[in-house]
Amino acid sequence: VAKTEERNAYRLYSPLMHADARRRLSLAVDLRQALARKEFRLVFQPNVELRTGRIMAVEALVRWQHPERGMLYPDDFIPMAENLGLIREIDEWVLGEACAQLRRWDALRLPSLRMAVNVSASTIGRRAFVDRLAEALEANGLSGERLLIEITESAILRLGEQTERTMQAIHGLGVGVAIDDFGTGYSSLAYLKLSAIAFLKIDRSFIAGLPGDANNAAITQAMLAMARSLGLRPIAEGIETQEQHDFLLRAGCSEGQGYFYARPQPAQDIEGMLRPSLRPTAAKLHLVPPKA
Ligand code: C2E
Ligand code: MG
Ligand code: MG
Ligand code: MG
Repeated sequence: VAKTEERNAYRLYSPLMHADARRRLSLAVDLRQALARKEFRLVFQPNVELRTGRIMAVEALVRWQHPERGMLYPDDFIPMAENLGLIREIDEWVLGEACAQLRRWDALRLPSLRMAVNVSASTIGRRAFVDRLAEALEANGLSGERLLIEITESAILRLGEQTERTMQAIHGLGVGVAIDDFGTGYSSLAYLKLSAIAFLKIDRSFIAGLPGDANNAAITQAMLAMARSLGLRPIAEGIETQEQHDFLLRAGCSEGQGYFYARPQPAQDIEGMLRPSLRPTAAKLHLVPPKA
């Protein structure tokens, strides 16, 4: 629908057009300007070692500070950005900003802290993507080991025969790849043996019902066993409760992420958690600032 309307811009004013379609069309118009108008922001969510609460990595998550509509979340605009062919520029902006932020945090002397960045299929599918990666690292004096690229199974599927070459090039920079939302995509598991892939992020839909949901408990345990035998580091997503934390720790999951530890938040708010002297223990991590 949006596509037709876009070609016939006069339809914008048609009284017959549904309010929802009108809203989407005007959002699409705004999205084209958003980068130039510097309306994107990053928030960061820690990824902790379950046993100690130590922050292993932070994931950069994009937000759109819309001048009239307020803060918009990825689900509100990433699919649209993908359809409009704008996602590559957004992802590359995020990559550059996230690397610049990691360099700023180097003042805190956390040499092993890693930054995780999400990329869409069309971003990683572009030949020049690996060059962009190398540039972002170089510009900020970071070694590739400091960076993680998160992609979903469906993005890997879309890479098709390009997968091996792309993964090898990323691996060549020392950058690790994490499979995001693992368990929700439809794809073969053959890609898991690619050496660039270092992490499996178990989707939060499996974590949500833990420990009560016997099926999700079994699936989670099976994914952990598979990660272990393939030498991949599991990261459980969407941990919200002490019970989930305890279950995952007992099940041998080493790392996790979720509101139980910290919500995504702006860089300056996360800094207190990163400072070694102020770093909370796992038990004390359960502070939940307002949704960012
Ligand atoms: P994701 O990469 O799986 O990121 C995790 C999402 O789960 C984030 O949503 C985060 O806020 C949310 N989350 C974290 N902990 C919890 C929890 O305990 N409970 C619940 N219910 N949710 C939790 P967010 O920030 O809305 O991002 C949604 C998705 O948008 C991300 O999922 C990622 O796939 C995509 N995304 C975010 N930033 C970018 C980006 O820069 N580029 C691209 N291409 N995609 C992005
Ligand atoms: Mg992610
Ligand atoms: Mg995820
Ligand atoms: Mg996701």
